[in-house]
Amino acid sequence: MKAAKVKYSIIVPMYNEEEVIEHTYDRLKQVMDGTNETYELIFVNDGSRDRTVELISMISEFDSNVRLIDFSRNFGHQIAISAGMDYAQGDAIVVIDADLQDPPEVILDMIAKWKEGYEVVYGKRLKRKGETVFKKVTAKVFYRILRSMTSFDIPIDTGDFRLIDRKVCDVLRGLKEKNRFVRGLVSWIGFRQTMVEYVREERFAGETKYPLKKMIGFALDGITSFSYKPLKIATYVGFTLSIGSFLYLLVVVFQKLFSGFPVQGWASIVAVNLLFNGIILMILGVIGEYIGRIYDESKGRPLYIVREVQGYPDKNEAEDE
Ligand code: UDP
Ligand code: MG
Repeated sequence: MKAAKVKYSIIVPMYNEEEVIEHTYDRLKQVMDGTNETYELIFVNDGSRDRTVELISMISEFDSNVRLIDFSRNFGHQIAISAGMDYAQGDAIVVIDADLQDPPEVILDMIAKWKEGYEVVYGKRLKRKGETVFKKVTAKVFYRILRSMTSFDIPIDTGDFRLIDRKVCDVLRGLKEKNRFVRGLVSWIGFRQTMVEYVREERFAGETKYPLKKMIGFALDGITSFSYKPLKIATYVGFTLSIGSFLYLLVVVFQKLFSGFPVQGWASIVAVNLLFNGIILMILGVIGEYIGRIYDESKGRPLYIVREVQGYPDKNEAEDE
């Protein structure tokens, strides 16, 4: 064990959050002090290039409830959350964004549900304030596609803001996959789950750390981790096109033999060729997405690399254990 046992662990992944992080700390502290129980705030720095680390490091000097896990570089949001779970000591563990889009006060509702006996309490967004139409629409479409592609229930419109029981945390830690889509994994493992509804606030300050490129990667991870339907779709497309082409071939032969019209068409040959080549390349790309992920898994590299850990007073004893 790395520190004295605590009741609650709050995991906060951070990537360039210098503008908000002190406010986030204040709000979290206020809420957690109100529980009158022991807690730890685990800030995971995912390779920020601004002053995020300095700020948390300073706070951890005088607040013994604060821990800092500092990554050697940017490994990604989902991995930062996973690292937080590796370090968490609490009986209940909460994951919350650093930008105050998830109101810390909702944690109290989550704790109440946990005390009723639920092992996973996820936050369902009733509304998303201050996000672009593009983000809202793509998120909506994505969650619905993902749901239609998986055989188990991934709740719609939920992010990673959730409380999990110790048991659930231990199971998640045992899932070693590299392309982690944490919200899917949590649904996949089952347990008694419930939700609390909340209004997603505007980002307190700073900009989103999920540009389009990361969003696409995230969506692909989500789908490929939980479904091979895209591969099946490729098979169906292949069959349909083959049958269609064969029928068309019969038509062409028939025309040639019986109607006396010579079959013409440089343009149509080129068009069909380009279309079919495009489809083939796309299907190869889909297969590639899966193979790339198999390659990632097979390398056996660690999920993340830690530069430094702060805020564990009895660290030496911990390492002896
Ligand atoms: N984040 C991270 N690593 C990344 C990108 C984001 O740890 O590579 C953190 C970020 O600091 C925030 C959370 O993940 O605490 C969610 O990111 P953000 O608020 O930018 O995403 P959005 O709310 O716009 O989807
Ligand atoms: Mg955000």
